[in-house]
Amino acid sequence: MTRDPRYDVLFEPVKIGPLTAKNRFFQVPHCNGMGSVYPSSMAAMRAMKAEGGWAVICTEETDIHPTSDITPYIEGRLWDDRDIPTFARMNEACHQHGALTGIELTHTAARDASLYSREVPMSVTARPTKAGNYPAQARAMDKADIRDYRRWCREAALRARKAGFDLIYVYCRAGTSMNGDFLSPVMNTRTDEYGGSLENRARLTREVLEDTHDAVGDTCAVAIRYTVDSAASPTGETNHQETLDFIEMIAEVPDLWDVNIREWRRDSMPSRFGPEASQEDLVSFVKAMTTKPVVGVGRFTSPDTMVGQIRRGVLDFIGAARPSIADPFLPKKIEEGRLDEIRECIGCNMCVTADELIVPMRCTQNATIGEEWRKGWHPEIIPAKESDDGVLIVGAGPAGLEAARTLGERGYGVTLAEAGSELGGRVAHEARLPGLATWGRVRDYREQQFIRLTNVEVYRESALTAEHVREFAMPRVVLATGATWRRDGIGHEHVVPINGADGANVFTPDDLFAGATLNGPVVVYDDDHYYMGGVIAEKLRLDGLDVTLMTPESDISSWTHVTLEHKWIENRLYEIGVEIVEKHAITGINNTEVAIEHTGSGRGRAIPCASVVLVTSRQSNDALYHELMADQTALDAAGITSVTRIGDCLAPSTIAAAVYSGHRLAREIDSPPTGDDVPFLRELPELGPY
Ligand code: ADP
Ligand code: SF4
Repeated sequence: MTRDPRYDVLFEPVKIGPLTAKNRFFQVPHCNGMGSVYPSSMAAMRAMKAEGGWAVICTEETDIHPTSDITPYIEGRLWDDRDIPTFARMNEACHQHGALTGIELTHTAARDASLYSREVPMSVTARPTKAGNYPAQARAMDKADIRDYRRWCREAALRARKAGFDLIYVYCRAGTSMNGDFLSPVMNTRTDEYGGSLENRARLTREVLEDTHDAVGDTCAVAIRYTVDSAASPTGETNHQETLDFIEMIAEVPDLWDVNIREWRRDSMPSRFGPEASQEDLVSFVKAMTTKPVVGVGRFTSPDTMVGQIRRGVLDFIGAARPSIADPFLPKKIEEGRLDEIRECIGCNMCVTADELIVPMRCTQNATIGEEWRKGWHPEIIPAKESDDGVLIVGAGPAGLEAARTLGERGYGVTLAEAGSELGGRVAHEARLPGLATWGRVRDYREQQFIRLTNVEVYRESALTAEHVREFAMPRVVLATGATWRRDGIGHEHVVPINGADGANVFTPDDLFAGATLNGPVVVYDDDHYYMGGVIAEKLRLDGLDVTLMTPESDISSWTHVTLEHKWIENRLYEIGVEIVEKHAITGINNTEVAIEHTGSGRGRAIPCASVVLVTSRQSNDALYHELMADQTALDAAGITSVTRIGDCLAPSTIAAAVYSGHRLAREIDSPPTGDDVPFLRELPELGPY
């Protein structure tokens, strides 16, 4: 297949300073929970994107000095020459595929407390460090410190070039970088030539840009990453005129402008709260102010939207973090006219959670991300089948769908049986909840691939019993029958059933999905802490009911802090009038009220309500598995050699975990791991002298 000529513009080469990018696909800096701690995993993940056609591949933020120690978070690190091999590995692997590589050098100033190095943090003025609310403060920098800082930046740029980087970033974001803190009219209260007027506050950024040019600009390009709303006023509003003045002042100094917005929750906008290209109105003015190429992001997955960004003069490069994680081969698929094979990002931000959880990243759509090196998983090339065994998969939720797709790609004959009339399992239901339609892509992508995979047969409205499974007589049986929300209230806080949970006025999310009608007022009780409690409360309120959302945690939907959705969810619920009760647990339910207790003080009270929805935890639908396993003779007679549970049927978890579980099964079906060995490669620290 060949590419549609209307996408030709996306494949034009673009000059960046002394370099030329082969097309307009630009993987902007993004953290990944691997960085310098799991270096080969990081390098192989980046290289996969280079193989997938991205013209520029960047690192995550990379701290340049022990006074800017990001620990415990896992990012890049370039403190001395011993850090070079990590990045050299990444660069060599990416260069093999014709990509340019960029490094986002940064000093995080007062953001981090330098917990590993125990150096005293420093910033434009003395102020508390931010990350983790650690009770430490940064000291104010004097002139000698500023000279040191400039020298460290220069040395880091030279080191980055030695490691093989093509593009060197100067980072300028208020609150998380030295340059941004100096530029900020709020943070910078200095009275010397680095404070006061915009020209003075911009001095450091300009100097670092010029120093970097001077150090490496003959062979490397110099980029600025600038958050266009960094010029916040004392009241927090962006002083747009100052932003314009700053850009005008240094418009031609960098070789490339990478523009985005300051708050991460807006920058990595969850799809529930913002569409593709949601930053356009905020960053589009930059391009008219400079002759240098401009890159920006917007969860771009549609080639038509991308073309629109270029043709309308919004951007020169299509920047992406999440779309390149969900599909490292996005550019190649557009180039080769394989649009129906694009695995579109769903905007769930499971990838983002890696940062706060301090673990290698995972993705709901792409089970292979982070596994390229340690498991040798390639997102597009999957080893051919090792036997002619037919595989029966029961259940077409995320786990069953991904297992069927991946086994199909391997060439196995697959029969996928689904009880319902539509595919998707939990995703089919949840995509109908307010704001979650984009999550339906988990189903859509996989369903789409079945058109091509003629060896995968799909049966809808086919609820299978043990007898049916045996009648199919396929050697391999995979159970992906999912899970059901508990009715008894057992969850994180409640280890025994809640009194009165068996009442007729008590419901679960599954009842709502099945069309139950509730009387108000309703109490939604969230002891699950991810998105479900909040989104059910939103749905019921939008249905016109009076709703109280209650949780034993100190925040509703508390786990969504790490997906950057929390503030959005909280705002939405306040806006539509959902009552929020935090730090309270239910002690009993009857027909007219719930009895509740403060989790700290134990003080009790009651909330009148007609219905209660318990969003607490789920139970695996594993009865079919146990029935099959209880009769080994019947399995043998049917020629069934393996019965395997995957996804929520084995243990309820996230959609990402279900997809991963389905993918893993498909890779390992011929030789399942014994469970005795570590199932992936590891890199151990090199021991120092002793
Ligand atoms: P997961 O997240 O693990 O994929 P889901 O709950 O999303 O799990 O999906 C499980 C799917 O399995 C649902 O679509 C459900 O209808 C289907 N299912 C459950 N039991 C059976 C069965 N006995 N026969 C066929 N399909 C089933
Ligand atoms: Fe997109 Fe979700 Fe994957 Fe992140 S985890 S890349 S948001 S699909």
